[in-house]
Amino acid sequence: MMNRPPLKVLIAAPRGFCAGVDRAIQIVELALERFGAPVYVRHEIVHNRFVVDRLKGMGAIFVDELDEVPDDRPVVFSAHGVPKSVPANARDRNLTFVDATCPLVSKVHRQAERLIEDGLHILFIGHGGHPEVIGTFGQVPEGAITLVETVEDVGRIAVADPDRLAFLTQTTLSVDDTAAIVSALKARFPNIRVPRSEDICYATSNRQAAVKAIAPECDRMLVIGSPNSSNSRRLAEVAERLNVPARLIDRASQIDWDWLGQPATLGLTAGASAPELLVREVVDALRERFEVAEEIADHSPERMIFKLPRELVA
Ligand code: SF4
Repeated sequence: MMNRPPLKVLIAAPRGFCAGVDRAIQIVELALERFGAPVYVRHEIVHNRFVVDRLKGMGAIFVDELDEVPDDRPVVFSAHGVPKSVPANARDRNLTFVDATCPLVSKVHRQAERLIEDGLHILFIGHGGHPEVIGTFGQVPEGAITLVETVEDVGRIAVADPDRLAFLTQTTLSVDDTAAIVSALKARFPNIRVPRSEDICYATSNRQAAVKAIAPECDRMLVIGSPNSSNSRRLAEVAERLNVPARLIDRASQIDWDWLGQPATLGLTAGASAPELLVREVVDALRERFEVAEEIADHSPERMIFKLPRELVA
């Protein structure tokens, strides 16, 4: 047998599925059980190609907008949340719908509503065009919320009353970039209202901290996640900023072996929408070329679980 070079694979923990993704996938599976196929899903239920393809195989049909859903079939709204107009339209059409919005995204929606009731203008830190941002903007009247993507944006914002402002954030941002934007906001608008608790979710911050914890030991990092997954992209960025070259891959077939070379230690993690099965697939692919010694980083386990919607479990 060919002599394979040694490779330590240091697996970040926690990694992979969060409670919101787990719940959203279960909602589609339960809806398929309850209503039979097809069940329509507005937008990718979670941003992971493998998960979406598996659910397609079970009878889910993914669409971009509600008008693509026939009147007699149920529809699930994705974990990222939807503007208020979407359930309103579904009700008008008497559609059966199940909302798989992550409860931590819904929490931001409720905060946005309350801030508007208090007469404040919201500055929202997030990535333009992301479905979560579209969903959160759709909770409040047009013009009541302004997007802030970068520290530079903070200097450019025009506001009617600098003393009647609040900020909120997308749940899947870079913890470090957001801290920099928040400092700039506080410096420019000292009276800005700060959210009661952090909007960046536990899963996003724990996965970024886990990458930081293993990065000093790693020569390269692979992050399993789809290119449209915000939290997965942030993980690759965190590694790169710590000078560990990193690649985001959907699955093992996308490993660029030339880029990987022969590192002594490879870090491996997975975004909140990537199943553990794909981590195992990557380790198996590595074993074909290297004498792999696998190590899982120390961590405290996450215990977050979200309840399923009553209409599916009753
Ligand atoms: S990444 Fe965070 S906000 Fe998004 S589904 Fe998971 S727990 Fe919810």
